[in-house]
Amino acid sequence: MTWLPFASYNLWSLFAPAVGQENWHCDMKRGFTKARGKETAIAQILKQDNIPQRIGHLAQRGVYEFHQDHSMLNRSNAVQIIAETLQLNQETEQVQERVDLILRKYQENPILKDKHIIHLTRGDEGFPQPIQIQQGNYLFNLYAAIDCIFTEDDILHILDFKTGKTDFDLRQGFVYLLAVSYLYPQQPAIASFYNLETGKWSKPISATSTQLKAVQIEIVQIAKKHQNDLQRYRKNIAAFHQIFPPNPGRTCQHCQFKSACEFSDEVTA
Ligand code: SF4
Repeated sequence: MTWLPFASYNLWSLFAPAVGQENWHCDMKRGFTKARGKETAIAQILKQDNIPQRIGHLAQRGVYEFHQDHSMLNRSNAVQIIAETLQLNQETEQVQERVDLILRKYQENPILKDKHIIHLTRGDEGFPQPIQIQQGNYLFNLYAAIDCIFTEDDILHILDFKTGKTDFDLRQGFVYLLAVSYLYPQQPAIASFYNLETGKWSKPISATSTQLKAVQIEIVQIAKKHQNDLQRYRKNIAAFHQIFPPNPGRTCQHCQFKSACEFSDEVTA
């Protein structure tokens, strides 16, 4: 398979913070994830879910299990059965409690009930299939890890599940709408976010073809800058901290790379 540069919402969020998240942004995380991800120690870190990621994956899997068997939503012991399928008893107490609550809440308010679901991921599939896109003379792969798509009145509804206090990022909705415009051309689509812990459902997001074009141009710019950074790093690995500048501060407390990052000491010292 021919190698192609890539773009994704994940890369965009690593590259530039969402509005209001500027203080929490650290470009060095992009460096660890994308430039040094094959180093043994970093690969080890990347393999392990942190607590929010673990809860997110198990919650997604829980929703998936509720919809594998339609009778499940009405069974009094459904949460127990799904918890066993997820092997929840092998997780930490915090993860068990929160996922158990998520499953209970979902059974009380199963938002996908009676929806015509055309795509629902388990949450552990890894990388989605890339979508090849040509922008001028630039060919790239777009990756969009879409949790769920259902149809409603002939409109595709892209739904992204959230857990915890994660804010909704409009950019994610736009990237997913762009992906769907290639996967299901000619079909109108909207996107929304649903927090499985708080029950908060965002307003639907839609985009005109002009807006989607602008999103495509933006992610191509990011893909190019990112490839440029990777090339600079490969030529001069000692310049890691200049190419991917650290932003030590409160964000280090929850950073998965703090054990590998020499700059995290500035916080704990
Ligand atoms: S530990 Fe701090 S400085 Fe280092 S990558 Fe994480 S957030 Fe950035």
